[in-house]
Amino acid sequence: MKFDVLTIFPSMFEGYFSESILKRARERGLLDVRVHDLRDWTTDKHHKVDDKPYGGGPGMVMKVEPFDLALKALKVKKGDRVVLMSAKGKKLTHKDAVRLSKYKRLVLLCGRYEGVDERVAAHLADEELSIGDYVLTGGELPAMVVIDAVSRHVPGVLGAKESLEQESHAEEGVTEHPQYTRPDSYSPKKGTTWKVPKELLSGDHAKIAAWRKKRSKSKKK
Ligand code: SAH
Repeated sequence: MKFDVLTIFPSMFEGYFSESILKRARERGLLDVRVHDLRDWTTDKHHKVDDKPYGGGPGMVMKVEPFDLALKALKVKKGDRVVLMSAKGKKLTHKDAVRLSKYKRLVLLCGRYEGVDERVAAHLADEELSIGDYVLTGGELPAMVVIDAVSRHVPGVLGAKESLEQESHAEEGVTEHPQYTRPDSYSPKKGTTWKVPKELLSGDHAKIAAWRKKRSKSKKK
């Protein structure tokens, strides 16, 4: 699967995609993440990507032209999806991550400052996504969140198939049971021990399954 990101801060992405699961997936050719500097598509000598808002008000608004020229250069095709990161967009859920993983390519547009000229949302983006009801300084972290959440659903990116199916939100409103690993008994200080629930140590698969079922959380309950 391909990801193209349009941002004025391309270097913010390097670290995140050069580690762990996403790094391996890129090396294995499962993911192709390309980060582009929006300033490459400015036409004035100062490489201006923003300007004052019409109607007045504080701050600067990102211009439509660099986004449009960049998308033209990236040759967005049918089967690609252009997503604008936006605090007023639809809130990202597990379902969106699964849905977006079916596209051949996602093009993620990152805003900064007071936001992006509305014509980007109206004419260039297929959808607007928010990662939560709060405002960040830019769309870079949200774009990384989207790429990370979507990538996990690209076949082969995660090792064992089960690690996707049994996880939180795979079923709507349901979160995973608690997990434990060695040691089965831990003493952070004298007189205190934190123990792993005995059911998990029992070796009895039915007992373990029942415990896990009981301890996974459902909003429907
Ligand atoms: N004035 C805007 C916020 C601009 S924040 C408003 O009140 O809605 C600058 C940029 O950061 C936005 O254009 C968007 O790309 C990104 N951003 C900020 N918060 C976000 C969020 N919760 N989800 C996704 N993108 C966000």
